[in-house]
Amino acid sequence: MTSVPKIVVRVSRVADPIHHGRLTIDNWSIPCTVGAGGLIQASFKREGDKCTPIGVFPLRYGFFDPAAVPDFPRDLAFPFVPLSDDMIWEEEGDDYNRLVFADKDQRRGGRLARRRAEGLFDVIVPIGFNDAVAELGRGSAIFIHPARADMSGTAGCVGVPREDMPALVRRLRPGMLIDIGYTQADDRERLDPETPVETVRFTGLAPGPNLIVVGAVHGNETCGPQAILRAIQDCRMGRLSVRRGAVTFLPVANMKAYRQGTREGDRNLNRDLREKTIPEDYEDRAGNRLCSVLRAHDVLLDIHSFRGEGEPFVFAGPLDNTGAVEPFRHAEAEGEFAARLGTSIVIHGWLDAYARFLKKRESLGHSNKANSEGVGTTEYMRFSGGYGVTLECGSHEDPQAAEVGYAAIVRALSHLGMIHASPPDVTAQTVIRVADVLVCEVEGDKLEHAWKTGDRVARGQVIARRAGGEVLEAPTDGFIIFPNHAAKPGDGLCYFGVASDRALAG
Ligand SMILES: [Zn+2]
Repeated sequence: MTSVPKIVVRVSRVADPIHHGRLTIDNWSIPCTVGAGGLIQASFKREGDKCTPIGVFPLRYGFFDPAAVPDFPRDLAFPFVPLSDDMIWEEEGDDYNRLVFADKDQRRGGRLARRRAEGLFDVIVPIGFNDAVAELGRGSAIFIHPARADMSGTAGCVGVPREDMPALVRRLRPGMLIDIGYTQADDRERLDPETPVETVRFTGLAPGPNLIVVGAVHGNETCGPQAILRAIQDCRMGRLSVRRGAVTFLPVANMKAYRQGTREGDRNLNRDLREKTIPEDYEDRAGNRLCSVLRAHDVLLDIHSFRGEGEPFVFAGPLDNTGAVEPFRHAEAEGEFAARLGTSIVIHGWLDAYARFLKKRESLGHSNKANSEGVGTTEYMRFSGGYGVTLECGSHEDPQAAEVGYAAIVRALSHLGMIHASPPDVTAQTVIRVADVLVCEVEGDKLEHAWKTGDRVARGQVIARRAGGEVLEAPTDGFIIFPNHAAKPGDGLCYFGVASDRALAG
């Protein structure tokens, strides 16, 4: 497979002046300018604000002005058409952000050719921003074009030094994208352990459920933030419109771990989640805030990814019960929700199995943890009167995981009747109850195969082998859940699941 290189435009958050950046294609890099007002989140871009929108946009074709550049090359890979004197790029009206043609002598002052004296429009490559379904006032005529000699800021376009223009047009390829944003290095410099938790909330005009969608409880699981940021953008742009109830998006629950690119900051945020009077570490402080945010909602969708291979699945809670471990009364609603999030596997019975795991650990002489150690976001949600599920979107590295997460958000909103959309179909086909856990007792206890979550095992099949040679067989037909191929003494080797007789969807 060949790949089309991307144009990357980066501006430093601390740039002085704020419109100076760099444009890079592969290893070719030149200075560039952006809007005199700097960069802006694409959804906040307005006509006339002199800002350049952040985002990834397509480049479809370009213009060259034959009067100004008679020797413009004709053998380019990227399509260029000659600029004609009657071309107008509409910045208002019904044809907003489109190319139109003027009649005879009309609208002389609005034509692209009017800038011929400045040379700014000798070569123009329109950036595909707000153009597929152009919305009036959201920004128009965002181009790549030659910069002024003093590299001053543009009205929102990307300006390239005139002398670099020939080299740039030679590097353009059909299907090319331009990626405009801030430099990453500045983000790291700005890493602040006290960064506030950011939530974005959309409230429909009719009453309805209160949904919260959470990402990056584990900092190395980036599919959640990606899916959630896309959903936020869609809500702002009107592509998703909440009519009933309210949705709160919390893209990054564990900012410390997320910035570090690690699963945990000081510890696992998804364990022992409760409000702590005397917070001792980062996760205690973030967890206290997370708990109070969760309590204000009825339904939680918590988006994760996992290590290794495997297909996406949903983790649901227990059946209705008044027991001590995890009392619950919304099993039916939670099951209906879990069954429609787009995955074919739904697993339930986590906290019971976790309690069993802790008992085994204790019997092996490992320092024990309280049962509350097994309480993460969804368990906390159930304790506080709501319900919620964990969506495991696939492998940490799988780019499809963000798509799985995004689809689940849309499915959740439509299932709950919060957006105008047909109710999502039931996708769950295999329902698994976590029945047991296999614990690594001594160094050398190992799983028998490169199991993945959801793998089926037959009764009597060897799942793992102890260091001493003893084999651990499947007690019944069942499934492997959360295999840990690097288990140390006291860790779980894997959980064992059985086909559940629970009917999720009515
Ligand atoms: Zn996770």
